[in-house]
Amino acid sequence: MPTRQCPFCGQVVHDSLAECPHCHETIPELRADAPASRRSDVGRRKVRRGLLCMLLAAVIHYFAGGYSGMQLPFPIQPVVTVYLAPLLFLAGLGLALYGFLFAP
Ligand SMILES: [Zn+2]
Repeated sequence: MPTRQCPFCGQVVHDSLAECPHCHETIPELRADAPASRRSDVGRRKVRRGLLCMLLAAVIHYFAGGYSGMQLPFPIQPVVTVYLAPLLFLAGLGLALYGFLFAP
């Protein structure tokens, strides 16, 4: 639920309210901030997705590479640990960096 702070009394109020329920002052619309926050949201989502890819790659590498000491019930092709997991990791890293540095 989107909330924001009342500029007059400092209470947290619901975003859709035009009037503060605590001090009954009219809350000015913050239309100018909306596009900027939406832009940074896109970048943040890319960073989060990139970090998720990196985490997934690390987990795959950990288990498929046999570092966990666990006996997996199915054999894993070496190509997974040699190429696919690092590829996924680098892709996630690239996406995270792209979202962090270049997202509009
Ligand atoms: Zn208020």
